Amino acid sequence: MKVAVIGTGYVGLVSGTCFAEMGMDVTCVDNQQEKVDALLRGEVPIYEPGLSEMVERNVKAGRLKFTTSLKDAIKDAEVISIAVGTPTRAGDGFADLSYVYGVAEEIANNLDHYAVVVTKSTVPAGTGYEIAKIIRRENPSLEFDVASNPEFLREGCAVDDFMKPDRVVVGTDSPRAQEVMERLYKPISDQGLPVFFTRIISSELIKYAANTFLATKVSFINEIADLCESLGADVEDVAHGIGLDSRIGAKFLKAGPGYGGSCFPKDTLAMVGIGERALSPVTIVEAVIGVNRQRQHRMAAKVIDACGGNVEGKKIAMLGVAFKAETDDVRDSVAVSIAEALARKGALVAAYDPKAMANAKKVTGPIVDYVKSKEEAIKDADVLVLATEWREFCEMDLAAAKAQLKAPVMVDLRNVFSPEEMAKLGFTYYSIGRPAVIAQEAVPVLKKVKG
Ligand code: NAD
Repeated sequence: MKVAVIGTGYVGLVSGTCFAEMGMDVTCVDNQQEKVDALLRGEVPIYEPGLSEMVERNVKAGRLKFTTSLKDAIKDAEVISIAVGTPTRAGDGFADLSYVYGVAEEIANNLDHYAVVVTKSTVPAGTGYEIAKIIRRENPSLEFDVASNPEFLREGCAVDDFMKPDRVVVGTDSPRAQEVMERLYKPISDQGLPVFFTRIISSELIKYAANTFLATKVSFINEIADLCESLGADVEDVAHGIGLDSRIGAKFLKAGPGYGGSCFPKDTLAMVGIGERALSPVTIVEAVIGVNRQRQHRMAAKVIDACGGNVEGKKIAMLGVAFKAETDDVRDSVAVSIAEALARKGALVAAYDPKAMANAKKVTGPIVDYVKSKEEAIKDADVLVLATEWREFCEMDLAAAKAQLKAPVMVDLRNVFSPEEMAKLGFTYYSIGRPAVIAQEAVPVLKKVKG
């Protein structure tokens, strides 16, 4: 089966490569010449565990190609999957669909045979019908179908998620397109994994409903964490206690600095726009966005409190700038916005991340100092902030870190360490939704912290 994937970013590159791994003949297109040149040289432009090896294997086997020519890529393709970005639109916060519609027009002007045009990009309900209109307008005699196939992969484990998904969702209103999509996902259905077919509009909404539900879980547990701090309770125990209820489930109940990344922030905003346009407001999602927005300020305030109320001239060791571990993606990374906020308050922020520093530097510029190792960040710092849960940080030698710090103070925004352990080591330790440990006391005491 011949497949064209338009847009070779996180989703396009992972899905194109995984389709090739499943045996399809795939061509990935991108309009960024440098990206395609790098891929043609065998360099994978993003960090994603297991991806480079899979790209190499499939290029060698002749099943995976890269080009800047959409026309060449869609020649004879049965499936054309659109995986370009749908960022937040400046001004109204809705999804910017200009890239998707631009690609639809280009497909229409270059396609000369029946194909299924699939949106893998996250697009608001109704976009599939707009794409069909554009193609019909540009190329009235063309035989084609549109389908929606939202992607649920998580950065950091994208390859595994794609090859062994919880489910595949396909929206199509045509039996012919359904037959093509059933063949495309046969390697998944053959493993007994669910491939769920529905109408286009429902499929498009499933993606937003899924992401905003997960964002709701995150904001919910984060507010519970704040409540735990006020009451002296422990959010880890509360999350465990509620997660044991099978109606609630244990996943996505990890209190932290707030959600970030390339999807939740933009998709929650777009969902509010979708609700407004349909005259059916999604008030819960509006609250979720508010909680998350405030949280970033609270996290910066927490670090400032840990520094005694003023960070001016203080050195802050920032461990992690990626929005989560195992990715180099810093889009809407809370760690980056905290680093920026602290630097603007006069702190000397020394940041280290195993993979994401080059991307973060493009966002922050020189106000944040990116250093070569966690040891260099920690040396003589007034406070250590653990912002991204990279394994390298979770497994660090805490006694060695303490010896290098100017003051043994840590703000752990990911609840990686145990307060008891940190107390034993003599740290002053602030985490999320758990009692703080204050080292100066003869017996470590529980103290309420603001923020
Ligand atoms: P990305 O920015 O990493 O990649 C988009 C790519 O499309 C870029 O390389 C860009 O150069 C290319 N592009 C733009 N216009 C083009 C054109 N006209 N022709 C060819 N290429 C073009 O974005 P991403 O993170 O891969 O996200 C893509 C879509 O998938 C978004 O809608 C996103 O919401 C959705 N999604 C992302 C994730 C994720 O974890 N990143 C997960 C699920 C869904």
